[in-house]
Amino acid sequence: MSTRFEEFYRRSIEDREGFWAEQAQLIEWHRPPQQICDYGHPPFARWFAGGLTNLCHNAVDRHLAARAGQNALIAISTETGAEKAYSYQELHAEVNRMAAVLKALGVQKGDRVQIYMPMIAEAAFAMLACARLGAIHSVVFGGFASGALASRIDDAQPKVIVSADAGSRGGRVVAYKPLLDEALQLSAHRPAAVLIVDRGLAPAPMRAGRDHDWASLRALHMDAQVPCEWVDATHPSYTLYTSGTTGRPKGVQRDTGGYTVALAASMKHIFAAQPGQTFFCTSDIGWVVGHSYIIYAPLINGMATVLYEGLPVRPDAGTWWGIVEKYRVTHMFSAPTAIRVLKKHDAAHLHRHDLSSLKALWLAGEPLDEPTAAWISDAIGKPIIDNYWQTETGWPILTLCNGVEKQDTRFGSPGKAVYGYNVKLIDDATGQELTQANQKGVLAIEGPLPPGCMQTVWRDDERFVNTYWKSIPGRLIYSTFDWGIRDEDGYYFILGRTDDVINVAGHRLGTREIEESIAAHAQIAEVAVVGVADSLKGQVALAFAVVRDAALTDDAPARQALEAEIMKLVDSRLGAVARPSRVLFVAALPKTRSGKLLRRALQAVAEGRDPGDLSTMEDPAALAQVQQQL
Ligand code: AMP
Repeated sequence: MSTRFEEFYRRSIEDREGFWAEQAQLIEWHRPPQQICDYGHPPFARWFAGGLTNLCHNAVDRHLAARAGQNALIAISTETGAEKAYSYQELHAEVNRMAAVLKALGVQKGDRVQIYMPMIAEAAFAMLACARLGAIHSVVFGGFASGALASRIDDAQPKVIVSADAGSRGGRVVAYKPLLDEALQLSAHRPAAVLIVDRGLAPAPMRAGRDHDWASLRALHMDAQVPCEWVDATHPSYTLYTSGTTGRPKGVQRDTGGYTVALAASMKHIFAAQPGQTFFCTSDIGWVVGHSYIIYAPLINGMATVLYEGLPVRPDAGTWWGIVEKYRVTHMFSAPTAIRVLKKHDAAHLHRHDLSSLKALWLAGEPLDEPTAAWISDAIGKPIIDNYWQTETGWPILTLCNGVEKQDTRFGSPGKAVYGYNVKLIDDATGQELTQANQKGVLAIEGPLPPGCMQTVWRDDERFVNTYWKSIPGRLIYSTFDWGIRDEDGYYFILGRTDDVINVAGHRLGTREIEESIAAHAQIAEVAVVGVADSLKGQVALAFAVVRDAALTDDAPARQALEAEIMKLVDSRLGAVARPSRVLFVAALPKTRSGKLLRRALQAVAEGRDPGDLSTMEDPAALAQVQQQL
């Protein structure tokens, strides 16, 4: 006999139309969808086409009737001490003001608006205001520096960029405006306007004619009422850049209707969340988890959502848990790295707080190791639920759907395939599906991808098809680029990436991007970056560089000076998140006779493992030297 969940899952795959037509009723439509899933042009799926809706309407306006006075957005900064809870009514007013300001700056339906901001309420207003206008937001993580920002500006071609004078991290002010100005010097594209939220943290020189002050413009639109633009379900809501194998980030493009439905359904079936409850996701709006589970999903579900600027351990390791206690947080969502940071502190900081409101803690973004899961489960006495997904999918691919049926966690596994995802394990050499338990293969998804997943790569359909759908020989199937296995009960285990993407503290980085920024140093002839295991961050980037003039690395002080220069270069181009933990100087990189870099061997040696078969290697001395450097 099949379980309730198995039946639910089976129906989502076998009666796709019926299943998703039902889920579509979880949101409000100005006009109902005319078609549930148009898959006439694989792999492009058009969900709920012909339906008219609006993401901001579903996240904000829709709740005014029943919960205008209830908390919607709780913005807390332990960096500045600012703390303010906005009711749905207040959030509505602020979003209308922001929408009016953006409109006055020329933003219309379909225009892009880049958002480069710290974790402050205005960032949420800006995202929601874009959705209100049918404009496409493109949030760039505040930890990225000018080079990374410039390439995203050139790709998105925003009409307006919304930013701030500064963010703050660990008590240190991080100025944003100078980085933005630098990025705008580097980029070919020029936005019509820049809107700056001045927090009074750092000087933000304004450029006349281009830069505008949010507070002054807001004051002109205090009573603004900007109607929601009804857009087709397939209208893009946002793009979000993510790293892959090449140095050029991809703009993951998401629709409107499918995304709204997918998030609403996830709150019900995965998170078992009710309107009026409180969601606290500790991610950043610069990442997909922040888009889906700080901003949109909790609001679509009529909940209060916490937007937090600060570290988990400042002023002490009790800070998050004090928020849980104060706002009666019911659902918490974080990443394993953050828990590993907490784990270095006394669990007494957590025990000080009343966590009785909390139902569970969800963790995602990187593999969850057993000691970390066990420690936090012990410390808070709540279920810990792993979930696996990607920027591309927008919501979990693998987890436990406890809203459908309570399921047991299985250690080391993020769970089973989530409804809507036709997950397969594929033999990467033959393209055959692996149907037996415990066989290792590429985790792939048979099309159509469910609602909410990426529509395409922004302005590059070909790249979407070639990158994601054609990597497995002989079949059109979506590759996650992760290795996985499945046990006899349908629980999956993730075994790492199949490509050169690395995961540092839950942040996804492309080694190519880091290599390109290091190679920009005049003294570097060649460089290879690999991800190596790290007990705190999961992985860290390690760079191996060949210098043009060997004399430059003759002695330790010279090597250290060059290493420091390279780190600074990466900081200024990509941002400190991408900075390698070390740069090691070698005479040559290990390569095959055909000149292909032996990345896996390099990584294995760096992790102290056996590099495996080296018979194709050009010069075995190169690897020996790498070993010596380590
Ligand atoms: P991102 O697009 O930044 O969310 O990164 C997605 C990648 O992070 C996935 O392809 C995996 O490699 C990794 N990842 C995300 N969540 C998990 C998880 N729960 N367990 C293991 N790896 C994960």
